[in-house]
Amino acid sequence: MSDTSRRLKVVIIGGGQAGLAVGYFLLRAKIEFIILDEQNNPGGAWLHAWESLQLFSPASYSSLPGWLFPQTKDKYPSREEVISYLTEYEKRYAHPVQRPVKVKDISDHGEYLSVTTDQGEFHADAVVSCTGTWKHPNVPDYPGISDFKGIQLHSANYTNANPFVEKRVLIVGGGNSGAQILAEVSKVAHETTWITEKEPIFLPDEVDGRVLFDVATKRYNAAKEGKTSEIIPNLGDVVMIDSVKEARSRGVLKTVRPFSQLIAHGAIWTDGSEKNLDAIIWCTGFQPSLDHLKSLDVVEKNGRVEVSGTRSTKQPRLWLVGYGEWTGFGSATLIGCQRYARSTATEIEKFVNNEMSE
Ligand code: FAD
Repeated sequence: MSDTSRRLKVVIIGGGQAGLAVGYFLLRAKIEFIILDEQNNPGGAWLHAWESLQLFSPASYSSLPGWLFPQTKDKYPSREEVISYLTEYEKRYAHPVQRPVKVKDISDHGEYLSVTTDQGEFHADAVVSCTGTWKHPNVPDYPGISDFKGIQLHSANYTNANPFVEKRVLIVGGGNSGAQILAEVSKVAHETTWITEKEPIFLPDEVDGRVLFDVATKRYNAAKEGKTSEIIPNLGDVVMIDSVKEARSRGVLKTVRPFSQLIAHGAIWTDGSEKNLDAIIWCTGFQPSLDHLKSLDVVEKNGRVEVSGTRSTKQPRLWLVGYGEWTGFGSATLIGCQRYARSTATEIEKFVNNEMSE
C-alpha cells in the first residue's frame, strides 16, 4: 500500500469536502497527488452528523468546484444528500483516494516530508492537511462536569432525539448545531433549556447561508485589496431553516445564560437557583484535528497553525485547508472552501515545479 519507493509530489490528508476540492484543482494542474483518508467510506464528517441535519445553504450554494450540487428534495440539502454528493464527486473525478489509511505522523526530511501511516510511509514534496474538526469536539470544562450523573453528549455524537424522550435536557451552544438540535429534542423532551453565552443572532427568515457566502466574498476581496471589511454576520449566526422556524412558533428559542456549576442531577446558577436535569447536549463546537502534525512542531498553543493564506509560515511544504476562519473565512463549508483549495493548488504547482527546475 505505501508508496515510499516512489516520491510523491503531493499527499492530501483527509478525503472530506476540503480534500476533494484541493484534489480537483491539482487534477486540473496535472500535479500528481494521493488522498489518504482514515474512514472506510467517502463523506468526511458528514458520515457522523445527526440524521436530520440540514445544510444552512441551498444546493446551488453548496457545490464543490466543477460540479453543481444536484437538485435536492427540500430547499436545503440533507445530510444524506451531502454524503451521496461527495461520494459521486470523488468517483466523477476519479480522485486517487486510499482508504482506510490513518496518518499518524509527519516528519521533515529536508527535501521531502515523510508521512507515516498505519499502512506504511509516503514521501512527499508537499502535504495538504484537510483533516477537519469533527474528531476534536470541544466541551467547556465547567466545575462539577464529572459529577453529573445524567447523559452527556457532544453534537458530534448526537444522532436523533430518541434517547431524550420525556427527559429534562440542557442544550449548550448558540450556533446552528444548538438551534437545530434544540428544535428536534424539544418536540419529545419533558423540558429543554437552551444555554447560550449571549443572545443568539437569528438571521432574517429570507436570509440563509447564501448571504453568508456573499458577504464572505466581499470580505475576501476586501482583504485581497488590503481594505478592512464592514462587520459581517459570521457562520455561527442561526439560519432559520424550517425546523428552527417551527421551534420558534412553539416559543422554544428562548435562551438562558450559563450556569456556574454542575452537580450529580442538575446545574446551579450564580444566583443559587438550581435545575434538575437528565441530560446535557454540548453544541460547543470543535477544535482542529491536527495531532498528525505534532512532530513538525507547527501547532501553536491555541491549537492552530500559523499560516499565510493556507500555507504554514514555519513549514514551507505544508498547507492547511478547510478549518474555518483561520484558514479563510467560510473555508469549513462546501462552497466556501473552493477559493482556498484553488489558491493552495496554485501555490503548490509553483512550489513543486520550481523544485523540479532547481
Ligand atoms: P471533514 O469533513 O471532517 O473531513 C476530514 C476527513 O479527514 C475525514 O474523513 C476524517 O476521517 C479524515 N481524517 C482526519 N484525520 C485523519 C488522519 N489523521 N488520517 C487520515 N484521515 C484523517 N458546511 C456547509 O458547507 N454548509 C452547511 O450548511 C453546513 N452546515 C453545517 C451545520 C452543522 C450543524 C455543522 C456541525 C456543520 C455544518 N457544515 C456545513 C460544516 C461541515 O459539516 C464541515 O465543516 C465539513 O464537513 C468540513 O469538511 P472537511 O473536509 O474540512 O473536514
